[in-house]
Amino acid sequence: MSTQSEHGQGDRNQGTILIVDDTLENLHLLSRILTRRGYEVRAVTSGEMALSSIQAAPPDLILLDICMPQMDGYELCQLLKASAQTQDIPVIFISALDEVLDKLRAFDVGGVDYITKPFRIPEVMARVTIHIKLRRLQQQLHEQNELLKQQVRDRLAAEAALQAANQELHRLANLDGLTQVANRRRFDEYLEQEWRRLTREQLPLSLILCDVDCFKAYNDTYGHQSGDDCLRTIARVLQAAAKRPADVVARYGGEEFAIILPNTPQEGAVQVAEEIRTGIKRLQMEHKGSSVSLFVTLSLGVATIVPQLTLIPDCLVAAADKALYRAKTEGRDRIIEECVIEQ
Ligand code: GH3
Ligand code: MG
Ligand code: MG
Repeated sequence: MSTQSEHGQGDRNQGTILIVDDTLENLHLLSRILTRRGYEVRAVTSGEMALSSIQAAPPDLILLDICMPQMDGYELCQLLKASAQTQDIPVIFISALDEVLDKLRAFDVGGVDYITKPFRIPEVMARVTIHIKLRRLQQQLHEQNELLKQQVRDRLAAEAALQAANQELHRLANLDGLTQVANRRRFDEYLEQEWRRLTREQLPLSLILCDVDCFKAYNDTYGHQSGDDCLRTIARVLQAAAKRPADVVARYGGEEFAIILPNTPQEGAVQVAEEIRTGIKRLQMEHKGSSVSLFVTLSLGVATIVPQLTLIPDCLVAAADKALYRAKTEGRDRIIEECVIEQ
């Protein structure tokens, strides 16, 4: 029965060592000693057997004889160092060859150490212990490195996701949920921004306000759900008419939309308004409750201004609103223009 002192380091596995030696005497002696020290030992007598043993389960260290029939130790070591799966397993040569050139060649093919035969047990143990320890440290370092790399990857992925979520949040904060055009918040912000820019550039800024005619009756006739669908369709027509990248269509209120047209004089804005009005008419959306047409129609108010430092954007909105009010009172389904300041 084995005792704790016989095993030296106790029963805990200190690591797996593969001994490759065609001299059985050496194999048995080394196996016995290393097993006692708590190592798991596998012993083979040829390079070919070593290869299949390593392939089955890579050991933590290899003690390798040089002179063996068929594949010698140098050749086996070279093969191991050439493969990514086995190149990190430390190889200690144990050989009767004692010439400097033999030793140099052993290091040259990738060995980490060299022990000459006849070997002394304490020396073998010391070298095995240090190389197993080095291998462990190297593995730990590699694992920590991999962990760090993974952490960096995770962090980058989390940052990208956060950025995407922020962008989406920003987009949603500016969008009208029903019609997917800009919301009132974005309208106010954009109008302010373009007002300041065009004040500096002294170029015209136009605004179209449009309102669905008799929309209460539409809801009453076809239901609120159909009313929502109608608003979505109208939004699409507006979006198609506002062609320039700087043009912004917004839902201004319930069934009221606004189109901001920067760098656009009044004639241009009226042209866009006309395109919208006819675009909606062309769709021929049935509207039995309307007092002005068999189909859905819009009333539009257009206003243009060259923004001035002494004025505020509200005056443009008020002018477009006034024009829209006139379009309503003068019979609906029409465009009325209002010039705030002569250009
Ligand atoms: P006018 O021609 O004078 O504009 O008449 P109108 O009926 O369109 O105007 P009014 O302001 O009396 O009614 C507007 C209606 O628009 C009230 C409401 O039923 C409808 N409305 C407002 N917002 C929405 C919405 O988001 N969805 C639906 N389905 N209807 C809406
Ligand atoms: Mg209306
Ligand atoms: Mg209205």
